[in-house]
Amino acid sequence: MNQSITTDLTDTTCSLCHCKHQTFLHDVLYKRNEPDVLIERYELRKICPSCVLFEHLEFYCPECFDLHDGTGEFICCCDCESKTHLKCLSDEEDVTEFKCSTCNHPKRLIFDLKELKDVKPRVDNVPWKLVDVQAARLLLTSARIADKLMSKARDESLSYAAMRANEAVSYREKATGAMSLFEKVKERNDRPFLLDRSRET
Ligand SMILES: [Zn+2]
Ligand SMILES: [Zn+2]
Ligand SMILES: [Zn+2]
Repeated sequence: MNQSITTDLTDTTCSLCHCKHQTFLHDVLYKRNEPDVLIERYELRKICPSCVLFEHLEFYCPECFDLHDGTGEFICCCDCESKTHLKCLSDEEDVTEFKCSTCNHPKRLIFDLKELKDVKPRVDNVPWKLVDVQAARLLLTSARIADKLMSKARDESLSYAAMRANEAVSYREKATGAMSLFEKVKERNDRPFLLDRSRET
């Protein structure tokens, strides 16, 4: 039996955790281990906000959810790759063997929209859902990470394409040099051989 996956199904399922019926999925380019095939270096995946956040802990502060920009002081978690701004910690926080808030409370990164039960469902019986402050924060940070990953992939693809173009130019120059050398040798071999018979007489 021929079976095909409908766009609806693929568009609402996270390709990492396979959670279904996601309202928000980010397009993220994932790198593949095939460095010589330009067109297949990245594959486009649809990933839910929580997976984007869990997969890229090193990109943002787990307290304020701002992306790291290389400035400010921060402390690294002893259990994961996240870095927490010092300014985001309270003075009483114990920073020896520091464990970040994501490691302590991983559920904080679960992107959850609350259903509004008191509001009449829409025409198609899909209930209204509420994006509260924490959900909005998770959505915004995951969107910024996805954007950053897309820009990085684009820049890497451009520099890879430029590198291959330079290689092509250098191969062409080598081929042109080899051809002109070949022509010279051929020309010398094709020249009529004149016998010097003067010494025979
Ligand atoms: Zn997911
Ligand atoms: Zn922070
Ligand atoms: Zn951690």
